[in-house]
Amino acid sequence: MLVDVNSLVRKNVLKLKPYSSARDDFKGNASVFLDANENPYPSLFNRYPDPHQLKLKEKISRIKGVKSEQIFLGNGSDEPIDLLIRAFCEPGVDNVIIPQPTYGMYTVSADINAVEIKTINLTSDFDIDLAATEGAWDEKSKLLFLCSPNNPSGNLLTKDKIESLLKKLSGIVIVDEAYIDFTDYPGFLPLLNKYNNLVVLQTLSKAWGLAGIRLGMCFSNVEIIKILNKIKSPYNINILTQDVAEKSLNEIEQKNNWVKEIKVQREFLRNELTKIRIVEKVYPSDANFLLTRVKNASATYKLLVAKGIITRDRSNVVLCDNCLRITVGTPDENQVLLNELKKA
Ligand SMILES: *Cc1c(COP(=O)(O)O)cnc(C)c1O
Repeated sequence: MLVDVNSLVRKNVLKLKPYSSARDDFKGNASVFLDANENPYPSLFNRYPDPHQLKLKEKISRIKGVKSEQIFLGNGSDEPIDLLIRAFCEPGVDNVIIPQPTYGMYTVSADINAVEIKTINLTSDFDIDLAATEGAWDEKSKLLFLCSPNNPSGNLLTKDKIESLLKKLSGIVIVDEAYIDFTDYPGFLPLLNKYNNLVVLQTLSKAWGLAGIRLGMCFSNVEIIKILNKIKSPYNINILTQDVAEKSLNEIEQKNNWVKEIKVQREFLRNELTKIRIVEKVYPSDANFLLTRVKNASATYKLLVAKGIITRDRSNVVLCDNCLRITVGTPDENQVLLNELKKA
């Protein structure tokens, strides 16, 4: 639905006069910077970083085919998740919709901000339940969180269902594409200019192998990006992260090779897992992990831990009875895992 972003945003955010940093007041080249109370003695890091990460955004813009002004960068994806809730949801008044099971941070961020969560379930094959989602949506609903490929199940959500929600809902639909590189599918970035209520999240933490530098990417229309920029902390992406990200983004070939190898290993691991006695089901995956149902998840989890192999026990999560989430590792790591499971 064509939404009026300014009427969705919280009134205090709409009225907010954002902090203006020294680097906002003066942009450009000069030889003597006496405006930010930095230590003048030379070191690599004595100056504040670019608060708007323009060089990095230009690079991401070229790679993703999205205008720089449509990109917000965060300290991990967790930052835009929190900022979206803070920008649009009045605590104790508005609500967000989070179909389960999915990534836990949406719930944690909503809880931190005292924003009500309407929890509904995905279908038994972890796809969108359209009737339940539309049924849960009310006049106080502001955000719908969707994760595709979904964590912990690994499957893509049906594109047509996401589009039908983008058309119907009078709020913002967030599609978290942390695992999009592991799919053979372009994701929702090509639809950014078709739906003004669409927000896409991606990250350097998975396929790009840069979880340690904390860089999350949020793509949307210029209006929504401006609101996020207004409420972020001034220098949210440090120089180290900006530098490493810029350099690493030149290594697309490397990233693509990793993804290719991980996809080969994913199919190998799936095949081998299905042959193991205690494995009851390996769910289809478009990500770099396999949700795997075993006879007794907690016993299997402990047995693996005793061998120094750590998986994620998801058996307490809805629709995930006796399921472990197993990340695809290197060929050697996968073999070690399989050997232990065969003995179980
Ligand atoms: C791993 C993951 C992220 C990444 O979060 P960062 O804060 O960018 O590291 C985001 N969403 C989902 C669903 C994930 O599984």
